[in-house]
Amino acid sequence: TNLFDARGAANPLDILKRVYGFSAFRGQQQSVVEHVVAGGDAVVLFPTGAGKSLCFQIPALCRKGVGIVVSPLIALMRDQVEALKQVGVRAAALNSSLTREEAVAIRRALSRGELDLLYVTPERAVTDGFAEMAADIDIALFAIDEAHCVSQWGHDFRPEYRGLDCLASRFPGVPRIALTATADPHTRDDIIERLALNGARVFTSSFDRPNIAYEIVERDQPRQQLLRFLSRFKDASGIVYCLSRAKVEETADWLNAQGIRALPYHAGMDRALRDAHQDAFLKEENLCLVATVAFGMGIDKPDVRYVAHLDLPGSVEAYYQETGRAGRDGLPSEVWMAYGMADVIQRRRMIDEGGSPEEIKRIERAKLNALLAICETAGCRRQAILAHFGEAHPGRCGHCDTCLKPVETWDGTEAAIKALAAVYRTGERFGTGHVVDVLIGTVNEKTERFGHVNMPVFGAGKELPARTWQSVFRQLLALGLISVDHAAFGALKLEPEARVVFRRERQLFFRKDRPASGKAARGQKS
Ligand code: ADP
Ligand code: ZN
Repeated sequence: TNLFDARGAANPLDILKRVYGFSAFRGQQQSVVEHVVAGGDAVVLFPTGAGKSLCFQIPALCRKGVGIVVSPLIALMRDQVEALKQVGVRAAALNSSLTREEAVAIRRALSRGELDLLYVTPERAVTDGFAEMAADIDIALFAIDEAHCVSQWGHDFRPEYRGLDCLASRFPGVPRIALTATADPHTRDDIIERLALNGARVFTSSFDRPNIAYEIVERDQPRQQLLRFLSRFKDASGIVYCLSRAKVEETADWLNAQGIRALPYHAGMDRALRDAHQDAFLKEENLCLVATVAFGMGIDKPDVRYVAHLDLPGSVEAYYQETGRAGRDGLPSEVWMAYGMADVIQRRRMIDEGGSPEEIKRIERAKLNALLAICETAGCRRQAILAHFGEAHPGRCGHCDTCLKPVETWDGTEAAIKALAAVYRTGERFGTGHVVDVLIGTVNEKTERFGHVNMPVFGAGKELPARTWQSVFRQLLALGLISVDHAAFGALKLEPEARVVFRRERQLFFRKDRPASGKAARGQKS
């Protein structure tokens, strides 16, 4: 076949053309390929859609022996193996979904040198059985896909990945290439250390996804806001992420009632139904998949036109990955998130009350604050997101909500002092709702019962509406000037840094809250 001619030549560009039908390498693909073909180890940090697969597939075809690909998901393996077979590459996957006969056939092909690529799960790759089997054959390389799974700092930690460093000692001289679309420095360092890739060359490319437009709105009527967002798309498919299974179901039902074809997807669903919905999403156009984060890793649907988040994602990394599923084909795509104070409070409570040790909780809090800073930024979203990955961007991308409609800011130093004073004077015992009531001077049972109506701070903030005060508190929270004590029913507490504001040593600029969210970015009236 053509393939074998191409392999005889062992020329990467030739293989790219003859096997895959592409005319040129993209970005740094060629450098990676040449480095691995020459026997070097590599860590590849390219964003989704950059073409990481060819970075190990082509070297596997160029080098003698079979390329072993460690991949975390069986569905992901299946898709890649199918795609490879279609272009004439001899690929197979060894996993628990095979029958005995199928597994035997694959082993036989392997021992006869009749496979170009073999996909295995990390659990299997570390077994003695696998090492024995692999000892008798030529191995072209090991590729470790979704390598961020080795890091606890990442959002997809899989303990099985931790054992993969054994490949270095068991198969010295076989090049290893780790690949991921996650680029934050912690995860990268973890990958290098945990996979024993200290000598590897690290390839990074910009994480900017220029065809993705970012928008983050304040939640007020989430369903109407979502509907307005979805109305921008005609005959397009996309994903709506929700935090809970129940919300996935309810949202999908509601969208269908609104005339939008939507299917739910979450880990609590019957397997067959879940697979059917995934297949429908991959094949059909004009379908909205409402899903928990259980959906997405390894899904290669190039024309996802939008990704919406109805709840705050787990971290900036998770937000980047989930939104990164939009626009893999390079065409304009939009991502949108609605979030509110309730998200922030709930997430803080989940961390505080979770079973993690204190040092992990500290990491979790820092990750949440990083995400909130992106939500609350008055600057370019793209710049803020890339900054999180250690990448400088000049800002004013012209392609995010804050660039399209610059957020007005106001000097909120005096307001912050009033807000912090109200928290302090009422004894750091009350939640946002009550403290706002005190600030705007609401006479009600609670403000009377606690004698707050007689305090100097009562009504001290009546020049601003309650909504603005809510926004002030959210931003104070994002800035780490106050915290929420869940053990005390959501009472606001001052953080040490608040003192600096009291002393007027720190000026604060807040984004003006928008008149009604959703309209803002487009100036639409509804
Ligand atoms: P990643 O794993 O980095 O998200 P993939 O390997 O799935 O990206 O590649 C994304 C898409 O780009 C695939 O459809 C792939 O066929 C295509 N692609 C990769 N490299 C090239 C290239 N050099 N020329 C054209 N298309 C390419
Ligand atoms: Zn921007």
